[in-house]
Formats: sequence, C-alpha cells, structure tokens
Amino acid sequence: MKITSVKSHVLRYALPETLGYSQQFYTHRTAHLVEVQTDEGVVGWGECFGPGPVALANKAIVEGVIAPIIEGDNPLNKDVIWHKVYNLLRDHGQKGMPLQALSGVDIALWDIVGKVANLPVYALLGGKHRDRIEVYGYGMMLRPEPVVEMIARFRDEAASIRDAGFVATKMKLGLGVKDDIKLATAVREGVGDDYRFMADANHCYTTSDALAVGRALDELDAYWFEEPVAPEDHDGYRELRSSLKTNIAGGEAEFNRWGWRTLLESRGLGIAQPEVCALGGISEYQRVLALCHAHFTPVVNHVWGSAVAVATNLHLLAAMPALPGGLHPWEPMLEFDTTHNDFRDGLLKQPLDIQGQIKASGGYACAPEGPGLGIEPDRDFIAHHTIH
Ligand SMILES: [Mg+2]
Repeated sequence: MKITSVKSHVLRYALPETLGYSQQFYTHRTAHLVEVQTDEGVVGWGECFGPGPVALANKAIVEGVIAPIIEGDNPLNKDVIWHKVYNLLRDHGQKGMPLQALSGVDIALWDIVGKVANLPVYALLGGKHRDRIEVYGYGMMLRPEPVVEMIARFRDEAASIRDAGFVATKMKLGLGVKDDIKLATAVREGVGDDYRFMADANHCYTTSDALAVGRALDELDAYWFEEPVAPEDHDGYRELRSSLKTNIAGGEAEFNRWGWRTLLESRGLGIAQPEVCALGGISEYQRVLALCHAHFTPVVNHVWGSAVAVATNLHLLAAMPALPGGLHPWEPMLEFDTTHNDFRDGLLKQPLDIQGQIKASGGYACAPEGPGLGIEPDRDFIAHHTIH
C-alpha cells in the first residue's frame, strides 16, 4: 500500500456573532482538514489545529513540505513516517506550525490503519477503558459588549449549559482582574453551588494578577484555572500551583514529548491539556499521555475544531487508562464548544450529535464504532466551505 496524495482542505464561514477570548475577537470559524489518499482507494482524514491565516500557512507545510517527504510510503508505517518527517523538520521548527501540520497527517494515517485493520482507533490503541465519556460544555466567550451586559450573559449562559446536560462548564476570562472576578462570580451564581465550572485565561495575566484572580476562584470553588500565565512561564505555573487550591490546567500550547517533558518536570500543572491536532497527532499524543501519567498528572484533552477533531478525541478519551484507577476513578472529560460550529455539526454524513447524546444520557458521549475514526466527511459540505 502506498500514499498517493496528501491534501489540505481549509474551510471557513462567517459566525452569526463575533466571539473572543483574552487575545482577540474573531468573526469567522476556520477548519483545516487533511485528506490522505492511497493506491488501494483507502482514504484517511485528519485535522490540524490553527485558526484563520495559520491554517493557510499549515496547508503550505502539509502540501508543500510534508507531502513530498511521504508520498510513495506505506501509510501503515505511521510511526516510521512520523519520525522521518520530524527529523527532517527538526532544524526548522520543533514546535508550532510544523507540528500542527504533522498532526493532521498523522491522524489521517491512523484513520487509514484502522480502516485497513477494520478496527476503530480506540481498539488500535488497546481498547476502551470506558464505554462513555463525560462531556463539559465551554461557552461564555468574550464579546464586544459592555461589561454589565457580559456579566448578565455569563450568568444566563452558564445556567443554560448546565441545563443542556453537560457535566461541567467553562468560561473565558480576559477583561482584567476586577471584571474577571465579577464574571466568575456570575458564572457561579448561574450554575449554583453543586456544579463544576472552570475558567480559561488564555495566558493573559502576570503571575501576581493570576494570583489575585486565582484566590477569587478558590473562594468560588472553581474546578480549574486554565492557562493563567504565558505557556513559557513554567515558574509562574509552579508558583500558582503551590499557592492556590483551584487546579492549575494548561498545555494546549505545548508540543511533542520533549516540550511536554520539560513542562511536566516543572511541576506547575495540576491537570494536563494536550491538543492532539497540534502536538504531533495521535502517535505523539500517546507518548505525551504516558509522560503525563508517569508524572501522575491527570489529563483532560484540549479539543477545538471540526467533527474530525472531536471524533479523534472521543477515541483517545475512551482509550485513556484511569489515573491512578480504582472502583470510583477520577474520569477525564470531552471538551465541547457550545458556540456556533457548523464544522462539527454539519461536516459528517452521520453527525456525532454530541448534544443529543448528552441530553439522552445525562452528560455522556461515546466514541464512534466504525473502522478508523469511524466518520465520513461530506464532500459537498467541504467543497461548499473550502476557501483554498
Ligand atoms: Mg484553553
């Protein structure tokens, strides 16, 4: 079996509302799908993390740099291919876009291997540790609106995410210490006392500002405080973790086993959030997961993007061993974007319908059962939304 082509599809549509996080507002949603074709007609799908123009730069890496390296190779040799590409790109980027590009290709190869073996990806990974996965809903994005309105909206949105059946919810931070504490207080009021909520700063604080917000989150009994400081600031992470009761979460901006080794050894993470579509794909995710567990750090994957990314993460979460295990073990969760996302809800011929699964089961979703990722993207949908 041989790889005959590696193609990127960059999709885009205008969101019904402007959304934002601590770094920027955005008006469009982008998705970057990777399609790997073989001489035997088996096709694999993957996804690269990276919004907007980053997706276009990653497409150039996928098609212009990685494709010529691997065309003609046997796609079943996914680990050989991973190392061949990484070794050749090492001098030009051990983190960031080269790894995001490689991630989408690697995921597509796992899809191919599963289809050839007639096994779902979770089975290739060793089997399901859980039949169903808890799902948390993130929403409460920043918007260009007055703070008073935002506070009221956060309170209502938090309650509606809880009422939709999600097991927990996550809000954005990013207005500055004083207003962020008001937003977090509104979210606690919205969900009530017996419900988990998390807060995501997208690395907008200094350590001292993060401490001030973190103390408020402690008072509000938040479950985790995500990316409080810059991802490079391992000392800041460690200080916050030793000072706060709330779990410190992060890692979505870290790449490959070597980046993760350093991050974990700095002991600043209470919860690790590896992003499979960025850190190097499923092959590298498995190594990062082993490193996290070797450091006894629980993992809740970062999930962003289309139905391809969501399906990939459902397989990974189903196949993740409990840490440390037991009769009532600590469980990971699927991260789910409750804002408008056509690329998740409209891309597949048979949608994952996470929202419906949650409603029916009280907060759970299952990994797809078909071979590979167990999904079939709709080519008409892709053609309609492709910008490049
Ligand atoms: Mg985040």
